[in-house]
Amino acid sequence: MASTVRTKARPTIHEFDLIRALHQRHGYRTPSVIQGIGDDAAVITSPAGQWTVLTTDLLTEGIHFDLCTATMADIGFRAAAANLSDVAAMGATPQYLLVALAIPRTGSRHHVLQLYRGMMAACRPHHVRLIGGDTSTSAGGWFLSLMLIGVVPPRKALFRSGARIGDYLYVTGTIGDALAGLTLLSKRRPRSNRQPESEVLSTRHRKFLIGRHLRPTARVAEGRWLSANRFATSAIDISDGLSGDLRHISEESHVGVELDLGALPISPACRAYAASRRLDPVNLALTGGEDYELLFTISSRQHTRLERSAVERGFSLARIGTIHPLRFGIQALSPDGRRHRLANTSYEHFT
Ligand code: ADP
Ligand code: MG
Repeated sequence: MASTVRTKARPTIHEFDLIRALHQRHGYRTPSVIQGIGDDAAVITSPAGQWTVLTTDLLTEGIHFDLCTATMADIGFRAAAANLSDVAAMGATPQYLLVALAIPRTGSRHHVLQLYRGMMAACRPHHVRLIGGDTSTSAGGWFLSLMLIGVVPPRKALFRSGARIGDYLYVTGTIGDALAGLTLLSKRRPRSNRQPESEVLSTRHRKFLIGRHLRPTARVAEGRWLSANRFATSAIDISDGLSGDLRHISEESHVGVELDLGALPISPACRAYAASRRLDPVNLALTGGEDYELLFTISSRQHTRLERSAVERGFSLARIGTIHPLRFGIQALSPDGRRHRLANTSYEHFT
């Protein structure tokens, strides 16, 4: 959105006024926060014996977000959702947020307030409190670093390393949507490339996919449910793409995986998008990152109980594979019965 960036250099925003505004808008009081925004550091109480879960993410303009395809509020929302999702994937409850920010000279107070509006919109349903941060000026673009603190009962945290041979592999929601949404936003096809016979994507599907990219849902309730009921043996959130994140479970748990491609949960919108671009929807589901769905394993003995409980709670789950010995590798089973080794196609910033 061109209007979100000013082209002329402007004086740096007054930091103290900005922090005061953030404090007034978002620094809600709660008994567990002894000291929030306003001192040298935040102070919180922790319930005795509980495990603390901590995660941080650094987002850079031009690498992780683009002001041409997202508003400041969208960027804030997605950044918070990514961190909430990391805590969810540990089976933990997110509680506190700290935000470090480097503002470019083109950035205004309005931009910052919009950014926080988006972040707190993602946090509010989970009662996550903003308790501090840091503010600086950037000689380049925006830098945004979030730190989220959560809590989980002892020995209930979900790790990538717990998958066992014979376990079933599940995923929440649908996958591939966020990549489709991002491509819709960033690559508008030139008219000459449009093939008249290809299907046209409806406005409804388009909106759904773009929404899945800009405003992803962190599966916080699902993560807590998986840990509290001792369902999951391992869990990870899908940030790099199914094939890449599956590899993390495989490596950390020292197991192989058979992935059932016919069972991948792909939304009608994602299928329609794939048809309109003559793409393979399964490929989108395998490689598309940033869906922030949970990928997890359970003991096969639990699967009836898990699926019944999911229906009761209105959670959407798909069983997409089985855990095998390490030497099996990661194999994809096609609906026609053919199998192939899964290529490592996840997105990495340093390659
Ligand atoms: P210090 O110089 O000790 O780092 P600051 O002036 O940077 O103190 O911060 C004052 C207070 O405002 C602290 O409580 C800090 O956590 C909070 N704060 C600063 N920047 C931000 C921000 N971008 N978002 C949220 N809280 C912030
Ligand atoms: Mg500071």
